[in-house]
Amino acid sequence: MCGYTRHKPGCTATYNILNDIFMVIQRTKNRENEMENTFLTGRTALITGSTSGIGLGIAKALAKAGANIVLNGLGDLAAIESLRSEMADLYDVDVIYDPANMLNPLEISTMIAAAQQKFGVVDILVNNAGIQHVSAIDEFPDDKWQAIININLVSNFHTIKAALPGMKKQNWGRIINLASAHGLVASPYKSAYVAAKHGVLGLTKTVALEIAQQQITCNAICPGYVRTPLVESQIEDQMKVHNMSRDDVINDIMLIAQPSKRFVEVEELGQVAVFLCSSAASSINGISLPVEGGWTAK
Ligand code: NAD
Repeated sequence: MCGYTRHKPGCTATYNILNDIFMVIQRTKNRENEMENTFLTGRTALITGSTSGIGLGIAKALAKAGANIVLNGLGDLAAIESLRSEMADLYDVDVIYDPANMLNPLEISTMIAAAQQKFGVVDILVNNAGIQHVSAIDEFPDDKWQAIININLVSNFHTIKAALPGMKKQNWGRIINLASAHGLVASPYKSAYVAAKHGVLGLTKTVALEIAQQQITCNAICPGYVRTPLVESQIEDQMKVHNMSRDDVINDIMLIAQPSKRFVEVEELGQVAVFLCSSAASSINGISLPVEGGWTAK
């Protein structure tokens, strides 16, 4: 504010004119952003497990909407670097990559701290990293059980714990947890995955209640089958467990659950995530949103 206002009335007028010009520029910019759907410009989104599949689809959709991106996940470093630079060029946003392993709480908190250091705050946190193993419970390997619980559920606790203080400080944030239709209903041979995804929904609701009075929301997306590397490897596992052909696993085990009889597309999930970040979704908090072609309606 102008310190000379009391002595120089003209200064107030100048300030008001400048302020009006600034407001007009800002409004025009906002309108342009809305028209181009780049309303997340200036925001930063961190998506765990975004080197492949659904996480990558969500990262691309958020980048297209203007957000700077922190990619995370496993994979070939050269391939990830070319993905990173392609995204930065295509969407004209900052894209960085952090290799933190979701099995390691220290690496998780270091990743969030590094993102905060670079961008100021993690505005949007998408907990997406996940693995699967299909096996009868009496044969389920202990290490697979623990890894699924740690990556699919426990990592969400650590990312939220580290990112939430920054969101609270600025009174704005979006937390989106990738659960699954298997967070709502069970299937045989997926004990660890179903347990972890049910846990993600419990965590989502609890966080939602804790931040309900701030401009922060925490929601879960519950996809049905999406054709990603995770599902491709499940097809192989299911073929062994059930002694079935590939086509029979796809049609008689997977898509039989989905009344739509088609796989959900990663682009659909990207758009759902963008919607949950929009102002239209400001009062949507603590929900478990099924995106599964009607699976859980049965
Ligand atoms: P995907 O295998 O294509 O991708 C998983 C991502 O997680 C990859 O980027 C991988 O590198 C990363 N990841 C795995 N272990 C990690 C670790 N220890 N540390 C860091 N990153 C790690 O799988 P997807 O199908 O895209 O699944 C993404 C999420 O969506 C998962 O949480 C999954 O449970 C959920 N989901 C998938 C489906 C489906 O049909 N594909 C359905 C419902 C829910």
